[in-house]
Amino acid sequence: MSPPPREAPLVALLPDDPLDGELLAEVRPPEWVNPPPARRYNLVVIGGGTAGLVAATGAAALGAKVALVEKELLGGDCLNVGCVPSKAILRSAAFYADVHHAARFAGAAPPAGEPDFGAAMERMRRLRAQLGRDDSARRLRDRGIDVFFGAAAFVDRRRVAVGNATLAFDKALIATGSRAARPDIEGIEAAGYLTNETVFNLTARPRRLLVVGGGPLGCELAQAFCRLGCAVTIASHEPYFLPGEERDAAEILAHALRRDGVDVRLNTDVKSVAVVAGEKRARLVNYDQDVTVAVDEILAGAGRVPHVEGLNLEAAGVDYDPLQGVRVNDFLQTTSRRIYAAGDVALDRKYTHAADATARLVVHNALFLGRKKLSSLIIPWCTYTDPEIAHVGIYVRDAHDQGFPMKTFTVPMSDVDRAVLDGEPEGFVKIHVKDGTDTILGATIVARHAGDMINEISLAMVAGIGLKTLAQVIHCYPTQAAAIRQAGDAYNRSRLTPLLKTISRRWLAWARRGR
Ligand SMILES: Cc1cc2nc3c(=O)[nH]c(=O)nc-3n(C[C@H](O)[C@H](O)[C@H](O)COP(=O)(O)OP(=O)(O)OC[C@H]3O[C@@H](n4cnc5c(N)ncnc54)[C@H](O)[C@@H]3O)c2cc1C
Repeated sequence: MSPPPREAPLVALLPDDPLDGELLAEVRPPEWVNPPPARRYNLVVIGGGTAGLVAATGAAALGAKVALVEKELLGGDCLNVGCVPSKAILRSAAFYADVHHAARFAGAAPPAGEPDFGAAMERMRRLRAQLGRDDSARRLRDRGIDVFFGAAAFVDRRRVAVGNATLAFDKALIATGSRAARPDIEGIEAAGYLTNETVFNLTARPRRLLVVGGGPLGCELAQAFCRLGCAVTIASHEPYFLPGEERDAAEILAHALRRDGVDVRLNTDVKSVAVVAGEKRARLVNYDQDVTVAVDEILAGAGRVPHVEGLNLEAAGVDYDPLQGVRVNDFLQTTSRRIYAAGDVALDRKYTHAADATARLVVHNALFLGRKKLSSLIIPWCTYTDPEIAHVGIYVRDAHDQGFPMKTFTVPMSDVDRAVLDGEPEGFVKIHVKDGTDTILGATIVARHAGDMINEISLAMVAGIGLKTLAQVIHCYPTQAAAIRQAGDAYNRSRLTPLLKTISRRWLAWARRGR
């Protein structure tokens, strides 16, 4: 039987084991008593996820009187039900994938037996509890932050209520994040399904798993669960995974999932789910194909919706849309001038580092009369499948749509020695520059460590370093990141006009004659 799909508080959803007890002792201490409210706060932060924690600690470090209100668990999605547990599981899954290919790397037969799913989940819970110490309620209190547990709601444009307390503020930050969208599939509520809020509670491997949705969450977890020994089917109504990413990147991903043994079904609608003889039967329709798959669990990755309900935003004059979230201007100010928003609740791109960056921007703008703009931030992102798919800046199709002249330099990973030696030749580094210059406008990297590699491109874009200069950066040999320098070399070669080549040839011929 699946755990409840959502709305139940996360605290209640955690399995009752000592490791989760350790986590709760940090991020929701059972004995916690909310402090008496101060007369007025410089900043009241609603939501103790990445955005809220970064803003609260940043503001307090600068001397602000700060209150932080968290409804469920400090650390929010990233720590409890997002990046941290998913990346811990991905690591175990990658280990099993390497073991599976023991013959390729070491000429040895793979060890007999199935991956230890329970051990992978226990490792995840142990590491999550360990990282939970960074988001500890006591640590925040030691930094001078008043931490309140409970659901916050605005009383008016200057006050927030939590339980019986009223918190008066000069500035407030809405950092309430997002949650899994309900899948629109007939019968799925009755059948029961998992989301990111419940999937990490599994302690035993589901023998067969259907993943609905081909976004980052669906793709990452489909691959990980397959590598951990589940028979996984992934269904997406889109023709490609990761809609929005470059098509050739998505094709490599589909191939990688198939190679791992995932049953990939693109252009496929999950029409209905029913429980028959104790198993979930899902009807999948792809054009004229209509098949039923029987599974033990269904994981829904149907997108994210912002957390805007229950905040009484109307009383504070804050405009919002139930699907798009809180409306902000380029300074992250809402329609109520003292109230700001950051992170998933206000952003299209829902990533931890985006939540972090926007929280910093709010501290600067709200408390120190800053004028930093959201539109000036260069935010990369990465899907942590194997290979990883990372992107920053402009896409080819955007440039085409806008009639923007752009040149692209591509290096296949099969041309990169380290990728070949590592047995990871799939993928590419693709860097776009403004035509006629070496100004980098964007890049997509598909490689085992693309998420690390993209940071070099982001750095170049932030610092205004061109592709020509990246070609001059000496990269350690052999590294996969050397692909970036190779793209720089390709750029330099493209600048060798026939005239320059002729001059160079003549110069060298003259030099050969001897003096
Ligand atoms: C499975 C999964 C994997 C992910 N992996 C990655 C990854 O690898 N890298 C990456 O960059 N991003 C990843 N993300 C996205 C990342 O988790 C989010 O972008 C990030 O957590 C957003 O931070 P936030 O502070 O905006 O919101 P949240 O982390 O959602 O925090 C919001 C907090 O507000 C609280 N809250 C809500 N309403 C109220 C209220 N009325 N009163 C008080 N508190 C309230 C919530 O309880 C919550 O704790 C992943 C997400 C998922 C689901």
